[in-house]
Amino acid sequence: MADNLIIGCGVVGLTTALELLRRGEGVTLVDAAEHEGMGTSFANGGLLTPSMSDPWNAPGVHRHLFEYLVSSSAALKIRLGALPSLMRWGPQFLLNSRVAPHRTATLANLELATYSLAAMRDLRERFGFAFEASDGGALKFFRTAAAFDAALAITEMIREHGIEARILDRTGAVAIEPCLAPVQGEIAGAIHYPGDASGDAYLFCREAARTIAELGGLFRYGQTVKGIEVRGGCVAGVRLADELVAADRVVVAAGVASPALAAKLGLSLAIKPVKGYSMTYTPDPTGPMPRLPVIDDGYHTAITPLGPRLRVAGTAEFAGHDLRLDPKRIANLGQLVKATYPQIADDAMLTTGKPWAGLRPTAADGRPYVGPGPVAGSWINSGHGHLGWTLAAGSARLLADLMSGVRPELDPAPYSPCR
Ligand SMILES: Cc1cc2nc3c(=O)[nH]c(=O)nc-3n(C[C@H](O)[C@H](O)[C@H](O)COP(=O)(O)OP(=O)(O)OC[C@H]3O[C@@H](n4cnc5c(N)ncnc54)[C@H](O)[C@@H]3O)c2cc1C
Repeated sequence: MADNLIIGCGVVGLTTALELLRRGEGVTLVDAAEHEGMGTSFANGGLLTPSMSDPWNAPGVHRHLFEYLVSSSAALKIRLGALPSLMRWGPQFLLNSRVAPHRTATLANLELATYSLAAMRDLRERFGFAFEASDGGALKFFRTAAAFDAALAITEMIREHGIEARILDRTGAVAIEPCLAPVQGEIAGAIHYPGDASGDAYLFCREAARTIAELGGLFRYGQTVKGIEVRGGCVAGVRLADELVAADRVVVAAGVASPALAAKLGLSLAIKPVKGYSMTYTPDPTGPMPRLPVIDDGYHTAITPLGPRLRVAGTAEFAGHDLRLDPKRIANLGQLVKATYPQIADDAMLTTGKPWAGLRPTAADGRPYVGPGPVAGSWINSGHGHLGWTLAAGSARLLADLMSGVRPELDPAPYSPCR
């Protein structure tokens, strides 16, 4: 019998396991993939950014719906085929774009993200994890004065809640990231967030899995959980293809697959997949390399240095669970790196690109679900959307405190799965 069984070996499930092991609990992790980090945690943008705590359903998002449906270059794309699956979630997403709920979600994410970065540093130091981590901050730049002004309002709000943000003109932006010099003339303004960080989520997953095994955690890879077994009103374990694995407590940390598993507990999680892409390049090691992640607000993309590699990530598509790579989206990412860093992105570098697509588990109200489920022994840690890497370590710590009956350092109410 497993004490704690965790479904999912992405950044969320693995950090949850680490936190439970630290508290002296036993853990077994089950994942359908052959090893850790093969889901959405595989090649994300690498950003650990409390500064990006605002959910994507910003006030006024409804005015762009038609564009999202018809335009192939829209920042957010809704595939017609995905529409039926959004019938319930879509209206919730729009309702939560009103000013008050959007602000509530931003502040809840901000608090968890700040807590999470401290928890991540703690894990790094405690276990000596190496994952191309950098604490050098992040830089967001804007190509139009209107976009810059709109961002200043959110920046003011997060500044009031402790996030350091330095407003820069184009010269200031290039001083922070000299590799932006060729596009200096296109920059209307920029914001530097010195407290942000970055790192490779997949390398982290590998380091975390190795440490979990050293601490006595058990892995069951290549096993799909078909359902959660409930007996006498309590969780009894999980069903695999031809086996029942008994467990006192089950944590659902299965990314975009979480709603289907939670439904078996009578819990409706308003999570939908939002598809994104990344390309990872290996530039000439003797040439220039950016110092820090740069977020291009106009294209909703980030270009992040990860040790010797450079990753560009972005795009948001409602396309159901379809993980196919759209060559046009991939080509756009390459063009964007070339347009931002022409001195780095020469033809030789562009041929090194490794394409990837992943599904962000996005909650309609923009906040993750972290806490107890409706059935005794059921626990949820999912729905972190575009912030899963940023929020993972803090969500894990919060959940492990709740599971061990320890008073958490954060108020868990905003993240309650039964909200
Ligand atoms: C293009 C892109 C860029 C991103 N950039 C950033 C970023 O810069 N910063 C940031 O903070 N976040 C970013 N994100 C979001 C972040 O990557 C995700 O929120 C995070 O990886 C989710 O982690 P997870 O552990 O919840 O899910 P996953 O990593 O998907 O892990 C879930 C695991 O559950 C397993 N599983 C599912 N169902 C079952 C089942 N029935 N039985 C057994 N196993 C199962 C899967 O195999 C998978 O391994 C980005 C996402 C994308 C797509």
